[in-house]
Amino acid sequence: MKDIIIASNNKGKIEDFKAIFPKANVIGISEIAPDFDVEETGTTFEENAILKSETASKALNKIVIADDSGLSVEALYGEPGIYSARYAGEPKDDQANIEKLLSNLKDKENKKAEFICAIAVSEPGKDTVTYVGKVQGEIIDEQRGENGFGYDPIFFVPSLDKTMAELTAAEKSAISHRGNAIKLMNEDIGERFQ
Ligand code: IMP
Repeated sequence: MKDIIIASNNKGKIEDFKAIFPKANVIGISEIAPDFDVEETGTTFEENAILKSETASKALNKIVIADDSGLSVEALYGEPGIYSARYAGEPKDDQANIEKLLSNLKDKENKKAEFICAIAVSEPGKDTVTYVGKVQGEIIDEQRGENGFGYDPIFFVPSLDKTMAELTAAEKSAISHRGNAIKLMNEDIGERFQ
């Protein structure tokens, strides 16, 4: 089984990657480098993904995938965007983020939103490569479903008539921003993970 190291401490993301690579040994970086932390000083999802993958790959001398992702809400001019994880402040709190978002969207008619995921892959001796995936949906007031993480319970996917949190991990990876970014990665450099 091939090892795939993910430069993230987010358990929800690691679970998504496990569903995306069912035949690989997906390892969250905290399992091998518990103190790994990178300041996300970039101004885009791609810049932040590159910061994480390059820092981890250099430290471990191994191929590493990083994901920087978030929610972009049309009526809020793209907020919370790259600040999705800590929208309601420190410490990171998914429920507080959802409540802040719903409160900011209360009087808006347009509920359109998209999840965006930038994947960066860094491998010793090779240039870093990036892939961006998206999925469109709508924000709903009521929280539905127990699966997933982050904003999944309020992110409604009209074509499936379900929120992201009502999907199984495999169903989510088939349509999600993360799944779509990984599809692009696999088409391009999938052989590196065989
Ligand atoms: P990052 O760790 O800086 O990339 O922050 C990502 C944040 O965006 C997460 O903490 C969530 O709040 C949100 N997010 C990203 N992907 C997802 C997803 O698949 N479902 C729900 N929320 C997500």
